[in-house]
Amino acid sequence: MKYPELKNYIGGKFTSSTSGKFLDVYSPLDGSVISKVPLSNASDLNAAVITAQNAQKLWAKTPIKERVQVFFRYKTLLEKNMTELSKLISEENGKTFDEAKAEVEKSIELTEFACSLPQLVAGEWLEVSAGVECRTEHAPLGVVASIVPFNFPMMVPNWTIPNAIALGNAMILKPSEVVPLSSQKIAELLKEAGLPDGVFNIVNGDRDIVEAICDHPDIQAVSFVGSTKVAKIVYARATSHFKRVLALGGAKNHLIVLPDAHAAMTASNVTASMSGCAGQRCMAASAMIGVGKIDHIVEQLCEESRKIVLGKNLGSVISKQAKERIESYITEAETQGAKILVDGRNSVVAGSEGGYYVGPTVIDFVRPDMKIAQEEVFGPVLSILRTDTVDEALEIENKNPYGNAAAVFTQSGAMARYVSERASAGMVGVNIGVPVPREPFSFGGWNESKFGMGDITGKSSIEFWTQLRKMTTKWNPDARTNWMS
Ligand code: NAD
Repeated sequence: MKYPELKNYIGGKFTSSTSGKFLDVYSPLDGSVISKVPLSNASDLNAAVITAQNAQKLWAKTPIKERVQVFFRYKTLLEKNMTELSKLISEENGKTFDEAKAEVEKSIELTEFACSLPQLVAGEWLEVSAGVECRTEHAPLGVVASIVPFNFPMMVPNWTIPNAIALGNAMILKPSEVVPLSSQKIAELLKEAGLPDGVFNIVNGDRDIVEAICDHPDIQAVSFVGSTKVAKIVYARATSHFKRVLALGGAKNHLIVLPDAHAAMTASNVTASMSGCAGQRCMAASAMIGVGKIDHIVEQLCEESRKIVLGKNLGSVISKQAKERIESYITEAETQGAKILVDGRNSVVAGSEGGYYVGPTVIDFVRPDMKIAQEEVFGPVLSILRTDTVDEALEIENKNPYGNAAAVFTQSGAMARYVSERASAGMVGVNIGVPVPREPFSFGGWNESKFGMGDITGKSSIEFWTQLRKMTTKWNPDARTNWMS
């Protein structure tokens, strides 16, 4: 085991869970056990909440301009530790070093945004009547929780940590039990940046601890990122306890390719979108809908896919079960008559035979009724569907229950506008396969890709992590000057 048994992080200290239960942590790059993560219980969570409640009282009294100083330092520490963090992310998640580095770079951008919050949360003030003023202020909620998935062990925690904490809350992070190592580094860096003990805490575990978070009476808000199945469970359970909840779910992203699209650019963009992070991105291209004559683009994207070197510029998927699940989608589509143009099944990387690898896979003539066309595959697999008209393509995209991202590839401004206005997705790309909004724009899908109001990052997250205090003050000593004072 390369790393020692992990602990929770409560009140600025790494603390053993009282449960005594652990789960092995594997590196998907070679299948080796690299650590053990505790499966915490409700009493571990309770200890973290009590500590967080106490710390939050003082933290909330610290002016926001002072609070964000911690995040200026945290940003510098992320930069300083970029290589070490990227190696750790790659080791626990299986993505390539460059993809892991991009996670750290995005975490830096998210932290920069948090540093700008004092500029964004200045309240409003108005003299509403002679000698009477109203003003507003964004007040923190108290103790909040963030539950995160396996596919971005550093970026997704940083979607929530800097904003929620800079806005005056204390946080309990529940990392994915599959990739719990990067979160420990986040705790160390926040401490080094000067964050007071107890403001950020980690409680490791699985389903039991998520349920305990949903039920805990002293947690005010819960953000969740993961599959739609669990997002629905968390949303329903935590709101039943009257908590504020934002739960981001899974995705099935459609790229609509028109015959006039720039062929080389489209081919490389679609390939990067479907294969980046081994297709384990909620923004990954899963289905490409080719409208009319697009064979020349399909040929080029197969060429691009064949250029990918597994184990070098395409990492592993997260587990043996994930590899089996992805390969079974491909086999079922083949059995039902789809044509496999590039086949990534049964891939092995020499020297890493124990790793969980699936090569890039391109499947043509997938029909909308096939399982692979409807469900989230979460692997480096592109299904190509064919239609005669753009409206048929939009109908397929609109019918899918998810709504995270969609994109159109065309050189016609009018067609780009036509499709982007009609796609049923929260994040829409024109000639870009991974239309992730960058700060200050906010991240969040529609339909079954998100439950709750607002988005998880950017300006929209301010409303989620705070509540508005409205204050009315009468400075005027006169009695009954008008109907209100
Ligand atoms: P997951 O839903 O299995 O797990 C997410 C979190 O929920 C983990 O911390 C896990 O411990 C916990 N959990 C798992 N099962 C649970 C249960 N039954 N009850 C309560 N908690 C439970 O997701 P994952 O496999 O870690 O991540 C992949 C999924 O996340 C994909 O569907 C992907 O699209 C989605 N995702 C979405 C976004 C987005 O922004 N919409 C971003 C990243 C990932």
